[in-house]
Amino acid sequence: MDYEAVIGLEVHLELKTRSKIFCGCSTAFGMEPNSSCCPVCLGLPGSLPVLNRSALEMAVKAALALNCRVEGRSRFDRKNYFYPDLPKAYQISQYELPVARGGYLEIDLPGGIKRVNIERVHMEEEAGKLLHAGGSIMESDYSLVDYNRAGIPLLEIVTAPNISSGKEARLFLEELRLLLFYCDVSDCRMEEGSLRCDANISLNLPGAAMGNKVEVKNMNSFRAVEYALDYEAQRQAEILSRAGEIVQETRHWDEENRVTVSLRGKEEASDYRYFPEPDLPPLLIEESWVQELKEALPELPAHKRLRFEEQYRLDPKDVAVLTSSPELACFYEEAARHVEDYTGLANWVKGDVLRIHNDSGKAIGEMTPLALAETISLLERGEISRPVAREVLEEALVRGKNPAQVVQDRGLGRIADPGTLGPLIEKVLQENPKAVESYLQGREKALGFLVGKVMAATRGRSDPAAVNTILRDKLQNLPGKVE
Ligand SMILES: [Zn+2]
Repeated sequence: MDYEAVIGLEVHLELKTRSKIFCGCSTAFGMEPNSSCCPVCLGLPGSLPVLNRSALEMAVKAALALNCRVEGRSRFDRKNYFYPDLPKAYQISQYELPVARGGYLEIDLPGGIKRVNIERVHMEEEAGKLLHAGGSIMESDYSLVDYNRAGIPLLEIVTAPNISSGKEARLFLEELRLLLFYCDVSDCRMEEGSLRCDANISLNLPGAAMGNKVEVKNMNSFRAVEYALDYEAQRQAEILSRAGEIVQETRHWDEENRVTVSLRGKEEASDYRYFPEPDLPPLLIEESWVQELKEALPELPAHKRLRFEEQYRLDPKDVAVLTSSPELACFYEEAARHVEDYTGLANWVKGDVLRIHNDSGKAIGEMTPLALAETISLLERGEISRPVAREVLEEALVRGKNPAQVVQDRGLGRIADPGTLGPLIEKVLQENPKAVESYLQGREKALGFLVGKVMAATRGRSDPAAVNTILRDKLQNLPGKVE
């Protein structure tokens, strides 16, 4: 039967503030365990939290980018549960009154654009980290706890249940990550835990009431989200088609075996005994400040993609690559101010610039776009060949040099001088008697072969037109040639 999957996502992402959400401790990654803690994030008696303005600013920026309504009045609540990674035995979160509600994010599907609605965006604090000695929690004799992460600001984004497949969920997450990159509020590295995603999924027949929900956790990559949800949809469909019942529960994605497994019955909100956080006043946000932040938002990915397609007349696939980071898009646009062939430029950026970035580890933001424009200009003026241009570009981008200077310093300019090419060509003729004979018998293709040999001997630096002329001339005047 054709069941419809109804999926909602809960995304937690780390905001990239320098200090924690309610105290001044550093959020730097990889510090000595328990070295970035204070009475506030350890929940010691008598300590009081103070909201980090920068965390709030990032939360509001993200909410605005997601087209949400930022609430003038919101509130922090205590979410109570007992677990050793939570030093206070409650997490400061937002429950009834989140900082923002009611937005959306559009994703590109083959059939057109789909709007995924955002129900709410709220702020909360991260818990600490447990290290189970000896690996897994089942096998270890004891566990260690590191509270460096306790109190790192998190943003929780909850979508409406209007996602219909694993693929859509993945596209949503990819677009969300790009959006947050652009807003500079989170690194969104799922593998490092700065972005986590849980999902709710239920199945129903078209037009029928919603089925029982299952929560899926432990998906550690965007791909895992797609696989886990597709697996879960299939599992539920099989149960329903046998007239079975879906148990409302939390299931865990087992990456190795590619299945979801039952973890526990799902907690209800009432299990957490939420109540207003008495140590923090209500959060009042002025409309004028929200407006300021809204005006300061950068151009967002969807808008930039459309503009690139129109302004530079580029293929959407190229545009997707060029706008995959704000730095790369900026690099392209800066270079485009100095070139005429926008598609050619796109090919250079997608190909060589990204390759050089990957090979050298040099950040795109630290490369000079003008160096690419100048290299292209040297190539177009015929001063260097394409293979040389690639070499020059690498040197210019990685070492921050001027391309014309690289050509001069390394003697990479084009060789068209008969005095230099003549002896080289003679050597090639001597080394390739078969090709010479073949040419003399009228096979024009052999000439191309010989030109290639000369080009290779100069590592692509000789001028093909000059090589052609000299080569033909020498072949015409070979001593042993029979007329
Ligand atoms: Zn602290």
